[in-house]
Amino acid sequence: MDFFDNALDKAKEAIDIVSKKTSEVVTAQKQKFDIASLESKRSKDFEKLGEIYFSLIKNEEIEDAQTKALVEAIIQKENEIFQLKDELNAAKYQRICPNCQANISKTAVYCSVCGAKLEIEE
Ligand SMILES: [Zn+2]
Repeated sequence: MDFFDNALDKAKEAIDIVSKKTSEVVTAQKQKFDIASLESKRSKDFEKLGEIYFSLIKNEEIEDAQTKALVEAIIQKENEIFQLKDELNAAKYQRICPNCQANISKTAVYCSVCGAKLEIEE
């Protein structure tokens, strides 16, 4: 029965090695996930810190020549975003008159410029 016992021991050894390797892979995967999670949380903290600092500079509570250009760039982008949203919103409630190509209200029954009767838009 020695042969059988030896074979059993070898099989057990092989299983131990495989499960050790599996556990190492699982641990490494968990560590990678933990790192990615912490990096993501850190990025959000940096973002919050940036917003607080941005407000302080924008409201002239502190002065910082080093970040002045960046603050101005953010303000400019905010203005552009506001303008684009405004245009998008306006476009939502406007249509072009098929008769005179004027910008008119989407709900108008008659064109406010040329007086043409308008079809109801879907
Ligand atoms: Zn018209």
